[in-house]
Amino acid sequence: MKRNLYDYAREQLSALLVLEGQKPYRATQLFKWIYQKNITDFSLMSDIAQNYREHLADNFCLTLPKIATMQKSADGTIKLLLELEDGAKIETVLMRYNYGNVACVSSQVGCNMGCKFCASGLLKKKRNLTPSEMTGQVLVLNQLLLLEEVPGRVSHVVVMGTGEPFDNYDHVMTFIQTINDPHALAIGARHITVSTCGIPDKIRLYGQSGLQINLAISLHAPNDEIRNQIMPINQAYPLKDLMAAVQDYEKNAGRRVTFEYILLSGINDQEEHADQLAKLIRPTFAYVNLIPYNEVDEHGFKRSNDRAVSKFFSRLKKRGVNVTIRREFGSDIDAACGQLRAKEDAKK
Ligand code: SAH
Repeated sequence: MKRNLYDYAREQLSALLVLEGQKPYRATQLFKWIYQKNITDFSLMSDIAQNYREHLADNFCLTLPKIATMQKSADGTIKLLLELEDGAKIETVLMRYNYGNVACVSSQVGCNMGCKFCASGLLKKKRNLTPSEMTGQVLVLNQLLLLEEVPGRVSHVVVMGTGEPFDNYDHVMTFIQTINDPHALAIGARHITVSTCGIPDKIRLYGQSGLQINLAISLHAPNDEIRNQIMPINQAYPLKDLMAAVQDYEKNAGRRVTFEYILLSGINDQEEHADQLAKLIRPTFAYVNLIPYNEVDEHGFKRSNDRAVSKFFSRLKKRGVNVTIRREFGSDIDAACGQLRAKEDAKK
C-alpha cells in the first residue's frame, strides 16, 4: 500500500528519503510543493529528477479526507463532517475570529474519556487519527478558504474536536510539527492550542517538548467530588495529581495553562464553586476560560443562565483570577462537539 506523504513531519520524511539514497533537502523540496504550492501531482514537481518523481508516485499518495456534509452558519462558522479512507466520519470546525481563521481539529474517531456532558463520548473510541488525517482537516479547510471572495487560510488551530489528544500523543505531536513547520503550513506555535481532559504524564512530557504551544486543560469542576461525577478521568487522576503536573509543565515550558470551565446549571456554577476554583488554581497563576454549555439532549445537563455566568465571572475576578468568557459560534448549526456526527449516526 502507498504511504501518505501527509503522515510525515519533515525530519521523519527526510530520514526516510535518505535511506533511499536521496539528499536530506529532498524532504524540504517536497514540503514546498505539497504544502505551499498545493501541488499533489508528482509529475509537476519540476525540481525533482524525472525518475525519482516516478518512484515517488509509485510509493506515496497524498490522500485527504472527503467532505461528507457541510454546514455553514450565519456568523461564517463552517462545520464539516469528513469521511476518512476506512469510511469513519469525523468533525472539523472553522470559526472566524477578528484575529483569524481558527480550525477546531479532531484527534480520534470517537472518544473513551466518557465526560458526562459531552456529545463526542456518545461514540466510544474506534481508533486514533493518523497525522495525515489531522493535517488533512486543516488542508481541506484551506481549500475551502481559498475559494472565498477574499481568499484566506487557517491561521490558528485548536485540538478541541472529538477525541483526547493526549490519548494519541505521538500522532498529535507529528501533526503539530507539520502545521508549525515554516516549510509546511507555518502556523505559529502560539497560534496552536492542545486541549486535554488532564493526563498527568502526558502533560509533563508536553512541557518538555520545547514547543511554545498553548495548553488548555478541561477542568470543569472546583473539587474532586464534582469532577468525579462529570469526568471519569478524575477517578484515575484526581485534582492533586493534575495540579502537580500542571505546575511541572509551567516550570518546564515557562508558560501558563488555560483552564476551561463549562458552566452547568446547579452543578458547578455557584459562588462557592468560584471560590473553591480560585483557591485550587492559585498556585498555577493560570487563566480561566468560562464556556457556555451547548446542551446535548442525551445528557440532560442545562446551561447556566446569563446571570449565573456573570456572577461566577465577577466572583473569580474579585479573587484575582485572570478570567474570560468564551464567545459562541455557530449556535444555529450543530455546534456542540460531536453533535453533527451523533445526528448522522441517529439517521442510520
Ligand atoms: N478531550 C479534550 C479535547 C476535546 S473536548 C479535552 O477534554 O479537552 C474540547 C472541549 O470542549 C473540552 O473542554 C470539553 O470539555 C468541551 N465540551 C465538550 N462538550 C461540550 C459541550 N456540550 N458544550 C461546551 N463545551 C463542551
